[in-house]
Amino acid sequence: KTKNEFYVNECIDTLLYMVKNQYESQNIKINFEYEEVKIINYENELKQALLNILNNAKDALLMRKEKENFEAHIDITLKKDNEKMNIEITNNGGNIDEEILYKIYEPYFTTKFEMQGTGIGLYMTKSIIETNMKGKIEVENISEGVKFIITLNI
Ligand code: ADP
Ligand code: MG
Repeated sequence: KTKNEFYVNECIDTLLYMVKNQYESQNIKINFEYEEVKIINYENELKQALLNILNNAKDALLMRKEKENFEAHIDITLKKDNEKMNIEITNNGGNIDEEILYKIYEPYFTTKFEMQGTGIGLYMTKSIIETNMKGKIEVENISEGVKFIITLNI
């Protein structure tokens, strides 16, 4: 095992362990399904990138919770096929308006005025995934929420 190799599934496990108590106390269920995937370099950066997405999911879920009663959850899957791996992160905190969907990666773009959002989370996430790691990040609205899809070369 060379110095910078790491298992993406372990990286995500560590991250989930970090946020577990906070999310549980806010009644947000997290489900993680994975295949083992080993990659090289950017472990801490990937963790930060995923944490930004998780925090956005949590914010969306908490905002929806203010309006109605529902079972809040975040679902993460990690899969590999051939030369690539996929991380999908979904939450059921409502859709992103189509008019702003193309702006979410812009630095300082935020809709969280009351929560004092900085608007740098997804900008940072996209630079880590695409500039550093040469991968791809995509977002789509799904029923009741949002799905982020990260694709990386193995
Ligand atoms: P911040 O969280 O500080 O607002 P981000 O760059 O992390 O900045 O996100 C930018 C914007 O993208 C958010 O303000 C929000 O409008 C939107 N967004 C990101 N993730 C989600 C999500 N999971 N559900 C709904 N909206 C989201
Ligand atoms: Mg954010």
